[in-house]
Amino acid sequence: MKTTFSHGNSCATDLIAQIDAYLKRLFPITRSITGNGNRETLRILQEIVPLQIKEYPSGTKAYDWVIPKEWNIRDAWIKDPQGKKIVDFKRSNLHVVSYSVPVHKKISLEELKEHLHYLEKQPDAIPYRTSYYKETWGFCLSYADYQKYFNQDGQYEVCIDSELKDGSLTIGELIIKGKSSKEFLISTYICHPSLANDNLSGMLLTALIGKKLLEQELNYTYRILFVPENIGAIVYLSKNENAMKRVFGGFVVTTVAGPGKYGYKSTYLGNHWIDRIVEKSFNDMGCEYQIYPFDIHGSDECRYSFPFFRIPVGTICKDKYYEYDYYHTSLDDLDFVQPENVLRSFDVYMRVLNSVDINVTYESLHPHCEPQLGKRGLYPLCGGHIRQKAALAKNALPQGFSNLDLILWLLFYCDGEKNLFEIAEKTALPLLELYRTAEELCKHTLLKKSID
Ligand code: ZN
Repeated sequence: MKTTFSHGNSCATDLIAQIDAYLKRLFPITRSITGNGNRETLRILQEIVPLQIKEYPSGTKAYDWVIPKEWNIRDAWIKDPQGKKIVDFKRSNLHVVSYSVPVHKKISLEELKEHLHYLEKQPDAIPYRTSYYKETWGFCLSYADYQKYFNQDGQYEVCIDSELKDGSLTIGELIIKGKSSKEFLISTYICHPSLANDNLSGMLLTALIGKKLLEQELNYTYRILFVPENIGAIVYLSKNENAMKRVFGGFVVTTVAGPGKYGYKSTYLGNHWIDRIVEKSFNDMGCEYQIYPFDIHGSDECRYSFPFFRIPVGTICKDKYYEYDYYHTSLDDLDFVQPENVLRSFDVYMRVLNSVDINVTYESLHPHCEPQLGKRGLYPLCGGHIRQKAALAKNALPQGFSNLDLILWLLFYCDGEKNLFEIAEKTALPLLELYRTAEELCKHTLLKKSID
């Protein structure tokens, strides 16, 4: 099913139904850091946004790393000594440790136990495990199943019908050109199999953001990436160094649709204007939220912020990774994640991104003193009021400030250094009204926009 995802035209229930359909289609796909599941995922997301799918061959060096062999899997199971299938990959792709090498043999329970992973504290959950860089194999199962099935004498039969061979690592890229060559990064990761909040929700939301941004007139250029976590970001950085030096900020989109409250992992700078825009947006929208300071454990924001790049990258979450009980288990499923929450987080992200996009810098073309507004038709004809309304005003503005306030503060603060959000913070004037007025003042050649 193809969708249009135009928030303005479709009603919310249509959108929620479309999001729900995509969640259900994408959830069962076996994704990893490489493989056909990633390609299939990106092909489905191409129905929403025109992603370019890029392939980077196994063996390619990326800084201190090398792209590993491509991993694909057809089937996997364990049979008990009576030949009964007791673990079956076809029921959940979490049953196999991601990147398991192929195996097919009969082994003792003692030996098999070394390859089994479960969570005693969450007896009904299958844990998510990976082994990308150490060649091994393993199965994950619930502790309840472990206790039920793994107590017999005799030989168990294990089979992992997987393949590790030279192939490629797959990345999805969408670049949306704005007026400026300065870029804003939106990155998500595509390497997790059937886990709904981490990170099916983030992948789908990123596609929806891309779709929406394509419909808008933009100041900045947006670089939207769908990468396998860690290695994908490293490969992309190494192959796009110059372009990534144009990126001034970004978000890593992950875990956005749980039932809990919003969270924000700050950029490494902590008090960057991106951080402050996010917090202001949460407050304006009445979201309950928690701020998490930058931490070196996390996702690709760490890589994008490494010394050579130093891009301030934040993350808005709804049930942040690490923080919810079902994290990295089979309980992070489509009962835990609701399409309504994807839509809510889409609204939060778009509000933030719309503020980011209009947070540009202007320079006064009359920096020596206040320009004469009257001769430009910008000053009220009849003077003497304490707070006068400028002729620019089409409608009276709320909250007790006038268009003249906007004009005068802009002419005062626009020095080519301070951006509009900083001016909004200093004056308590709304960012959007400042932007609209600044654009008008550019037409009157009183301000010049500097966005490159
Ligand atoms: Zn994860």
